[in-house]
Amino acid sequence: MALGSRSVGAVQSSAPALTILAQNRADLPAVEGLRAVVVGGGWGGLTIAKYLKIHSPEMDVVLVERRSIFMSCPISNLWLADLVDYSFLTHSFLDAARNNNYTFFNATVLDVDRDKRRVHTEKGYIDYDYLVLSPGIDYDYGAIGVHDPAEQIALMSHFPAAFKPGSEHITLKRKVENFTGGLFLLTVPSGNYRCLPAPYERACMIASVLKRKKIKGKVILLDHNHDIKIKGEGFHAAFEELYKDYIEYYPSITIVGVDVENKTVIDEFDDYRFDDAAIYPRIRGSKLIETLGLVNDTSPQKEARINQYRNNLIDDERVYVIGDSRSTGYSKSGSTAQAEARYVARVIAARIKGEEIEWQSPYTSCYSMVGAEPMEAIYFGSEYLPPQADITAMSMERTISSWTDTGAAFAWRDRNMLRSAEMGEEMIGWAITHYKEMFE
Ligand SMILES: Cc1cc2nc3c(=O)[nH]c(=O)nc-3n(C[C@H](O)[C@H](O)[C@H](O)COP(=O)(O)OP(=O)(O)OC[C@H]3O[C@@H](n4cnc5c(N)ncnc54)[C@H](O)[C@@H]3O)c2cc1C
Repeated sequence: MALGSRSVGAVQSSAPALTILAQNRADLPAVEGLRAVVVGGGWGGLTIAKYLKIHSPEMDVVLVERRSIFMSCPISNLWLADLVDYSFLTHSFLDAARNNNYTFFNATVLDVDRDKRRVHTEKGYIDYDYLVLSPGIDYDYGAIGVHDPAEQIALMSHFPAAFKPGSEHITLKRKVENFTGGLFLLTVPSGNYRCLPAPYERACMIASVLKRKKIKGKVILLDHNHDIKIKGEGFHAAFEELYKDYIEYYPSITIVGVDVENKTVIDEFDDYRFDDAAIYPRIRGSKLIETLGLVNDTSPQKEARINQYRNNLIDDERVYVIGDSRSTGYSKSGSTAQAEARYVARVIAARIKGEEIEWQSPYTSCYSMVGAEPMEAIYFGSEYLPPQADITAMSMERTISSWTDTGAAFAWRDRNMLRSAEMGEEMIGWAITHYKEMFE
């Protein structure tokens, strides 16, 4: 059929496909009352879909997600070292929706018409009363000097970052399985990147495979930061005590280019040759946020312009952004996204009744596996100070710090940098509890 002459049901039309799509309602049951649409079935989206139904049971909830299978980024580093199976990471969106009384709609969101309160997908439009966007991240390859789209695609396909769920992780797993020796290069980007401890955890897990298989090779970790950004004490101890012959850590490396063909990372002063790699560039808020015109102009990572206390768009109390696309500066973690989702579900439920609730900090509960045989982990738990808190006036009973260049201040509540098998077990328990929260 020629482009421009498409069939919609029985009707022939010569209008462009997008125009036709914009007129078609998605095949979903009609609703009489309120409807919330949640975009993105990751850690934030799955959690808020559940809690919207718990706090506002009368409201219809539709979760729109473009993938058909859920794959977890948290715990994926353990899978690289064969500490868990792939099936531990994968879950069904259908189970999540059925068990929590909402609808899973497997489609990609293309546009949002905020005047009509309408979400457009390739399978038609859905009208909403409340919209929650949790579309995650995209990569900013330009920030490491790779600007040409052809070069970006070459880099992404040969040495994927594996910081978005799915094929990138499967490629990385194959690389680790097939690695026979030499230098395996990992990078830690600048900014408030997704999961601050994950690159260091990944270095430990890949090094554990080299150690177990007695492979003559090393993990080379090039870090943009001047030192390990989080849980430094615990990671440095693991590097030194468990992987002295297997990990080389280089701080303060600003990558300015990557030569994919010659397997070389270029920084301001040196070239780093490698045999295999997973190159993690700077991240940014999902491109969907930019496409919808919702970027906060002051956000270096193109995150959404939201009310820092309530997560709604500055000029729209019907639209909320949560998870790693937010501009609040919290750590970009699944645990934070879940805690925030629980809170924002309560904000929306209260607003439906014309009420406001008190601001509540998300709590981030964060384990990292550092040892493989036996499995040993370290822990860091933190909460945040109110967005405009005067840090100088705060009690220093808790250590107060702030994420480099995000401005979000946090206070750690609990931490344990002494790796132990007990915490290794707790980490697996953490994952089971969090998966249950989303899928059961
Ligand atoms: C290796 C690794 C290890 C990690 N370890 C931990 C850990 O131990 N603990 C922890 O708390 N966190 C960890 N994280 C971080 C955690 O995975 C993220 O912070 C979390 O997934 C963020 O949730 P989110 O909802 O913002 O985004 P995501 O979980 O990425 O979900 C976004 C979803 O939106 C969908 N989407 C995007 N655009 C569209 C569209 N237009 N239409 C439809 N759907 C769309 C995507 O397909 C995706 O499913 C780790 C991450 C990595 C990569």
